[in-house]
Amino acid sequence: MKPLRSASAAVKVKLSSIQGCIPVRHPEVALSIEVYHNVRNWVKTQEFLVLGQQTLTELRDKIYCLTDKDQETDGQHNHSGYFLIEDTFYNDLRDPSAIDYSEPIFDWLSNSKDDALKKWECILAGKMQKHKKAVVGDITGSKLPRFQAADMHKTQFCNLKFQLGAGYLYCHQGDCRHTVVIRDMRLLHPEDIQNRAAYPILLFQLKLHVQKCRVCRIYRATKMTVNDKWTPENPCYFCDNCYFLLHYTKDGSLQYQDFEVHDYHHDQPR
Ligand SMILES: [Zn+2]
Ligand SMILES: [Zn+2]
Repeated sequence: MKPLRSASAAVKVKLSSIQGCIPVRHPEVALSIEVYHNVRNWVKTQEFLVLGQQTLTELRDKIYCLTDKDQETDGQHNHSGYFLIEDTFYNDLRDPSAIDYSEPIFDWLSNSKDDALKKWECILAGKMQKHKKAVVGDITGSKLPRFQAADMHKTQFCNLKFQLGAGYLYCHQGDCRHTVVIRDMRLLHPEDIQNRAAYPILLFQLKLHVQKCRVCRIYRATKMTVNDKWTPENPCYFCDNCYFLLHYTKDGSLQYQDFEVHDYHHDQPR
């Protein structure tokens, strides 16, 4: 097992980007937390070093997901979200428009008890290996966990009940789901950054591949067109400037409309 990396040695934190200085109170615990891709769920996209006294929302605000970006550009950004850790849903209800995502789940659990129990038994059976099953026998008669809800912004990591290495759930923008794993924990030591405002520290970020504009071949692409008759490839990528030069007349009207255009941020990780 690799030892938990020290934040000061392994990671260059942009000190200029940190606002304020809040001394860390000792003793303090540091947790390394991994976040996985929503579709390619075996791909780790980020890893953070979080302090025990930080709230779950402090981590949530640092999680990067393309779904947030896409919803933002469509003007449909949704602030709701939750972590499911052990048997508790930690809902982010800071924004007045946020929805309690756990409510319909609780309704379903109380209205469809038999269905819920069957699903739960399937989950447990899937986890049990065949030889164990032969020894233990059938698992009917098992009980559903007593799920509960709590506020994400009022819960600190030091008050969480969790198991190291277990897969937990982060859900946002309706049904964009990520596995979250608390990989390791240790006491904070003097070599670590002692400014609380610097945490959660990004220990790892999956390198995101960004296409260049196909016209100038200089700038990052910001638009992607599909079935565009004047482009040499399909889909084709443009920076803002080249996109407007190719598709609009001088007086600002679109020259042709039989194509699709999308905002482009980066490729999906493989
Ligand atoms: Zn997501
Ligand atoms: Zn360009």
